[in-house]
Amino acid sequence: MKYIRQKRNGLYMLLLSVVMMVLAGGCGMKKTEKVTCADTAMGTIVQQTLYVQRENSEITLNEIMELLDSLEKDTLSWREETSEVYSINSSSEHTGYVLSEKMRQYLEIIRDVWMQSNGAFDVTVGEVTGLWGIDEWQQKEVCDYFQLPAVEELQAALKNSGFEKIKIEGKQIYMPAHIQLDLGAVGKGIACDEVRTLLSENESVTAAVISIGGSVLTYGEKPDGSSWKVAIQHPRIEGETIAVLQLKGDWSISTSGDYERYVEKDGKRYHHIIDPKTGYPADSGLISVTIVSESGILSDALSTACFVLGKDAGLELAEEYGVQVYMVDKDLNVYMTEGMDKLLVLR
Ligand code: AMP
Ligand code: MG
Repeated sequence: MKYIRQKRNGLYMLLLSVVMMVLAGGCGMKKTEKVTCADTAMGTIVQQTLYVQRENSEITLNEIMELLDSLEKDTLSWREETSEVYSINSSSEHTGYVLSEKMRQYLEIIRDVWMQSNGAFDVTVGEVTGLWGIDEWQQKEVCDYFQLPAVEELQAALKNSGFEKIKIEGKQIYMPAHIQLDLGAVGKGIACDEVRTLLSENESVTAAVISIGGSVLTYGEKPDGSSWKVAIQHPRIEGETIAVLQLKGDWSISTSGDYERYVEKDGKRYHHIIDPKTGYPADSGLISVTIVSESGILSDALSTACFVLGKDAGLELAEEYGVQVYMVDKDLNVYMTEGMDKLLVLR
């Protein structure tokens, strides 16, 4: 069965193929369908594979896409005037802004990673990422007309940023007017957590693997009891994998790489992960970092943080959080935690 979904603006199409698998169970027949689809949301590609015990499984697939659209539009986007981040960014330092309970929880984790990473992870880099125009870059762009931001502008933006300038008292956040939150480094991970919650409330979904840009969620157990296989993209050979992980149960796997979004000018690559100490793309020697954690927001935040920190401090940070990390440096040397080594089936 094929199903095409035309989105509001008619730009996106959803291709859904449903494979029916009939499993015998107990005294009656229990049907499990494997359904897959690819679509775009949150400015990235979303791929879903669900194992569902009912026939109208496209409802769940659409529910997930709607959840992602709403997460972007109502909560995380700094561009959409309807979003909570937009409201926080435009709130007054004096009167503050009353956070939703979810946003308060996200910011608590975000603050913790900012502290533990010594500021390598800092969502207040919004003005800096705005100066670079990261949001406007296509995935890979070679353009000679690209202009680097002026040094003075970057320095001024850096001076204005820093999570320490934010005050959170209970539900109230007070933020200096010039600070702009950019939750791009945790958005896909938060999405994994929200999708997992949605799935856990839906008894008919027994298992799923969903990739949202650089983050992947595995959920439940496949009907045949086999493990999830999650590929890590080769950072320098498009379409090839550098490693494959084998996991059982619920996990979030996030990768930050300098190949995901960048511009090239005069033979030099400017990528999208900023070192908050310099205002320039992080130059820690690493080109790809993958984190495996039970929490999506943590896996996403820590992949960005470790990328900026580099190999040694990155390994330390991952160990502090008890997550697994896989890092690749410029010469394609690989470094990882012991637990990660045990998850690899192909390297
Ligand atoms: P990711 O691909 O998850 O590593 O996230 C990168 C995105 O997070 C960028 O496109 C920026 O929007 C934002 N960002 C860049 N550098 C940082 C940083 N050091 N801390 C927090 N967010 C960042
Ligand atoms: Mg991230």
